[in-house]
Amino acid sequence: MAIAVLAFLLALGRILSAESKFMVYNTSASIHPTKLNVHLVPHTHDDVGWLKTIDQYYVGSNNSIQRACVQNVLDSMVPALLADKNRKFIYVEQASSFQCHHAFFQRWWRDQSEATKTIVKQLVHLGQLELINGGMCMHDEAVPHYIDMIDQTTLGHWFIKEEFGVTPRIGWQIDPFGHSAVQAYLLGAEVGFDSFFFGRIDYQDRAKRKNEKSLEVIWRGSKSFGSSAQIFAGAFPENYEPPSGFYFEVNAASPIVQDDISLFDYNVQERVNDFVAAAVAQANITRTNHVMWTMGTDFKYQYAHTWFRQLDKLIHYVNQDGRVNALYSTPSIYTDAKHAANRAWPLKTGDYFPYADRANSYWTGFFTSRPAFKRYVRVMSGYYLAARQLEFFRGRATSGPNTGSLADALAIAQHHDAITGTEKQHVANDYTKRLAIGYSEAEALVSSSLACLVESASNKECGSPITKFQQARNLFLELKNCYCPPSETALSNGKDLMLVVYNPLGWKREDIVQIPVMTGDISVHDSEGNNVESQLIPITDAYHKLRSYHVKAYLGRNAGEAPKYWLVFSVSVPSLGFSTYSILRAQGTGARPTLSNVSTVQPGKYSGVNIGQGNLKVEFSAAGKMTLYVSRGMKEHVEQSFSFYSGSNGTHNDPQKSGAYVFRPNGSFPIIPEKQTPLTVVRGPIIDELHQRINSWIYQVTRVNKAKEHVEVEFIVGPVPTDDGIGKEVVTQISTGMMTNKTFYTDSCGRDFIERIRDYRTDWELEVNQPAAGNYYPINLGIFMKDSEKEFSVLVDRSVGGSSLSDGQIELMLHRRLLLDDSRGVAEALNETVCVEDDCTGLIIQGKYYFRFDPIGKGARWRRSYGQELYSPLLLAFSEQDGNSRRSSGRTQFSGIDPSYTLPENIVVLTLQELDGGKALLRLAHLYEIGEDKELSVTTEVQLKKLFPSKKIGKALEMSLSANQERAAMESKRLVWQVEDSAEEGETEVARGGPVDPIELIVELAPMEIRTFILEFTEFDTVIYG
Ligand SMILES: [Zn+2]
Repeated sequence: MAIAVLAFLLALGRILSAESKFMVYNTSASIHPTKLNVHLVPHTHDDVGWLKTIDQYYVGSNNSIQRACVQNVLDSMVPALLADKNRKFIYVEQASSFQCHHAFFQRWWRDQSEATKTIVKQLVHLGQLELINGGMCMHDEAVPHYIDMIDQTTLGHWFIKEEFGVTPRIGWQIDPFGHSAVQAYLLGAEVGFDSFFFGRIDYQDRAKRKNEKSLEVIWRGSKSFGSSAQIFAGAFPENYEPPSGFYFEVNAASPIVQDDISLFDYNVQERVNDFVAAAVAQANITRTNHVMWTMGTDFKYQYAHTWFRQLDKLIHYVNQDGRVNALYSTPSIYTDAKHAANRAWPLKTGDYFPYADRANSYWTGFFTSRPAFKRYVRVMSGYYLAARQLEFFRGRATSGPNTGSLADALAIAQHHDAITGTEKQHVANDYTKRLAIGYSEAEALVSSSLACLVESASNKECGSPITKFQQARNLFLELKNCYCPPSETALSNGKDLMLVVYNPLGWKREDIVQIPVMTGDISVHDSEGNNVESQLIPITDAYHKLRSYHVKAYLGRNAGEAPKYWLVFSVSVPSLGFSTYSILRAQGTGARPTLSNVSTVQPGKYSGVNIGQGNLKVEFSAAGKMTLYVSRGMKEHVEQSFSFYSGSNGTHNDPQKSGAYVFRPNGSFPIIPEKQTPLTVVRGPIIDELHQRINSWIYQVTRVNKAKEHVEVEFIVGPVPTDDGIGKEVVTQISTGMMTNKTFYTDSCGRDFIERIRDYRTDWELEVNQPAAGNYYPINLGIFMKDSEKEFSVLVDRSVGGSSLSDGQIELMLHRRLLLDDSRGVAEALNETVCVEDDCTGLIIQGKYYFRFDPIGKGARWRRSYGQELYSPLLLAFSEQDGNSRRSSGRTQFSGIDPSYTLPENIVVLTLQELDGGKALLRLAHLYEIGEDKELSVTTEVQLKKLFPSKKIGKALEMSLSANQERAAMESKRLVWQVEDSAEEGETEVARGGPVDPIELIVELAPMEIRTFILEFTEFDTVIYG
């Protein structure tokens, strides 16, 4: 009995002593020179909007949709890192420093005490917390425009620089759906990143790369820059998640490391074995003795301790075991280890589009998803560029409206579940609302800046200008749907209208302006009072319907009396400047606009018709079908048609459906124009149009401007009918007789053109499962094809998906309306509707594309120059004028640059923005690639003094692309990588502009070069050239 009690007490004592022992885990491992090193990278992937809005993600509300709270992640990260100095964490999404305080790191930062801020700064400096990627969001790479990518990255990088004094080293684009050349070389190498990691590449490509151990490459994304803008790029073996069985979020199913021998289910050896097996499996597909484990995923580390507790134990026991070496790491440490291996890597050129994760699952639908939102973002992007210029010319005010909110809203709209169209509807609404708020502030800024510039010969003390400008508020919605209150009401109220036309480009520009008016009893005059030739085009029913519907739906009011005409007239506007025009009530028998000649013709009742009265004519058949393009000796067959793909509802063998991400068609069906519908032909001195009602939900206008040599096609598509239970993806095809040998070219984020070959991939032997979806590519700027004699180019007004599915033909996907979800997480059908009260119908979209033939080798000029005009349209501002007090004083013309100077045709100002302390951010870009155009693909000079005629430049400091470090410092830090032997052959010498002489201040730009400067002005002369 006594012995039994003693044994019991001894056993109890053992248990008690085991329970009270404080276990110290050895987490101090660093890189081991010979063992396999497993770099454990704790991370969280925090979408700035997807299933919930960014605010909901930040505070952790709306949790019935998704249990996610970014505040929890960041709050719990701090004590978890403090608990052990070996622990590390990376954070990616900055999102917002301006007054909206949208989300995530910056928002959290704002809410912290000074004590916490000090601690976090310390964690950053010790390398425990690394801020990587560093943009406001993890932007998509298929559908954003490169200017937006630069802007949003710059905002985030500036915040990090300002608060922490650091520059991110690593690109971390783990979730976007395919990867672009522009991301690799421009938003990678040119912002000073040493490497770039990502999760999603084509499943066939991935399989081959695993076999060949070529998931990690040196990526040269730019033909023009070659090795001078290359980057170490690593695709993960699977996703951006941990190996299976190593998830440690609260409530995760993976087995934890149970190392308390006094408790049941002790499993240290099993877990170590699992770890070693997973590490060895990855080592078998990876070069060098370093592998990275991405320890985290979407919105994880909400209670960071659960992860770190397990990682501490794994590092301790795995290293005790000794077969492999496990360590806390970051992508920077991993990159340095790869670099230190001092070996050659496979070379990668081109890009990683399109992305498919399975045989019938091509993520090429999102190139077009939410086409109206994509257009809205594009319009706002061009507006933001112009608004910053005007703010600079006026001189930034210390208070009052600014561009901050628009910058913010645009930044988060580039997120890979925003502009992509792969977010839930309520989240899309949230992004749109933010853009609308940002726009209204920027609009107020633009109006007051223009008023200042118009009213005074000097911008000094421009406190409260008298002139009140209105713009076509919400340009996208209102002007294009012919709703423009300023131009409609002024003239009908007996007032005259002054119109300021601002040109954000550095070239003098001849263009046309088109505004809706109530009456034709008017005349148009330039600033000298000369009569300007103008044309009236009657507004058709299709536009009236759209106008009243959208005004009711979006503005909640009746549109009022409809305007009768489009007033069209030519304008001539100086570089980075404006011209003014007046539209007056006509007096006496003075000049009036020419009323267009409108004829209605029944299809089949005449022999054909053509439009165009300049160098370009387009002919149509008796049935109204486009047949011939005639221009300057070129006579080309061209046809244009519509069709739709029926969205797959899944098949017996593969349940994959067509949805927001995935394009999976189930057959293609031509849309035959309705036979009885007449054509309307509009002719006038400036433009000719052919109007066609294709069917009850497609309306089209083909337009030729006498002064331009391209065809403009405007479409109204929707509501896409789905009452047959079938989702539809609407496309247009433009067919030529060209022999294009399966080859076509599409742009990368609006910048470099990349060769595409139908049913072919450069990097692997393609198994073709989806002949349409698998040949779709993102188009931001345009698509073109060529034969031995000519080129055929199409430019777009927003991001769309497109392809050349048969020789000589180009196809654009214009609209998508689908009834089922495609199982990639959004859990909603892409079925956009617009409601007036409770009456909802499918979204109607309106847009344009432009096409043109050129002799071979001559097409780039139009694609680049006109493409830039499309991105930066003329900005219009209206002011009512009392007939009796027509302005006689004030500035009627303005150029922000020396009036004797114009930027070269191949150069644009990407950014002109006033910074604190009277400094300015200037980005200049060469628009042409190497070899693209005989005369324009050359190194070109810009004279900074002529760009700033009224200021004296004290210093022009060249910066990295995101302007967070000096260019020279960035280049001196850049890691140098080697590529495998044969790859160096054929590398021609790379051209780059030379250093800028501080006295001469001439900037050289080589093809495709973007150079970023911070300018300091020593003298301010407020007199502006007029
Ligand atoms: Zn994501």
